[in-house]
Amino acid sequence: MTVEPRVRRYATRSGIRIYQLPVETFPLHVNNIYLILDGDHSTLFDVGSGTPQSVEDLTRGFAEVRERFGERVDVAAVQHVVISHSHIDHFGFVAYFTRETDADVFIHELDARVLNNFEERIVLASKDLRVFMERSGLKPEARQELEEMYRFSKHFFKSVELDRILRDGDRIINGYVVHHVPGHCPGQICLQVEDVLFTADHVLSRITPHQSPASITPFCGLEHYLGSLEKIRRVEGVSLALPGHEEAIPDLGARIDAIAAHHTRRLNQVLEICREPAHLVEISKRLFGPKSGYTRILALEEAGAHVEYLFQRGELRIANLDELSRESNPVIFYETRRGATP
Ligand SMILES: [Zn+2]
Ligand SMILES: [Zn+2]
Repeated sequence: MTVEPRVRRYATRSGIRIYQLPVETFPLHVNNIYLILDGDHSTLFDVGSGTPQSVEDLTRGFAEVRERFGERVDVAAVQHVVISHSHIDHFGFVAYFTRETDADVFIHELDARVLNNFEERIVLASKDLRVFMERSGLKPEARQELEEMYRFSKHFFKSVELDRILRDGDRIINGYVVHHVPGHCPGQICLQVEDVLFTADHVLSRITPHQSPASITPFCGLEHYLGSLEKIRRVEGVSLALPGHEEAIPDLGARIDAIAAHHTRRLNQVLEICREPAHLVEISKRLFGPKSGYTRILALEEAGAHVEYLFQRGELRIANLDELSRESNPVIFYETRRGATP
């Protein structure tokens, strides 16, 4: 039997109330949705996936906020919805708010097209991913996972029109500050409400946020991500960070240090592995062990982000350049340049 998730309450320096609602967005995958109550303003930060379970958990979370904390709140009456980034577990339920309520829905300009033109995004992303997979050394049978993902996503979400576009440094709703932090996702934002920073998937308390190469999606990749970590480190006056999954982060600086150190170690591991020429499937297997299904794609993307970062800096070179010049899209082998250190 699983333990029932419970709402947690936080407050900013001046007493703005924040409720953390745990929502199971996909089986065994839990997101934190935040309800921010500030004078006359009610704001949701992320909305969950929109699966029946996700919607049920959100509805139950609101009921708990009413019953345990005595707030007069209702999902249908939320005034502002801010989407942290365009991953389906965070935005999938957004159509409910755009079509059936009066809420203003905000998203960063680099992620708006994913929601406004989801069909285009899915077709393009799956093509770019296929090129990446072919180069990685994945066998054709294994690439079928991709086709399945594509089919699943296509039916899961239909485009919506969003018109509240966010940019870095914007102040919205009641002076909440938008920090654009590309890396995990092109339009990833953190939202600052007084001394509380909502970090979404940019900084998590236990897991190191997933990385994928900029070659698949521009504004992703380690170059952007590590820069965005430093950017968030410099935000002043943060006493609590609230992430999109897992628990609150009391010491954001220490958590940023740990994540940055993790990536440095992983970059070193890749240089070590590539002392002998290796393609991405091998590198991924040596880093993460054997994986199957969707987790294999995630592992390949993660390995690919590290290889890309080292390659951009000339620390890795292509070992089979002749083959690459002759054939249209062969498997690429990477090799550590002599004397390279990250
Ligand atoms: Zn995400
Ligand atoms: Zn997430």
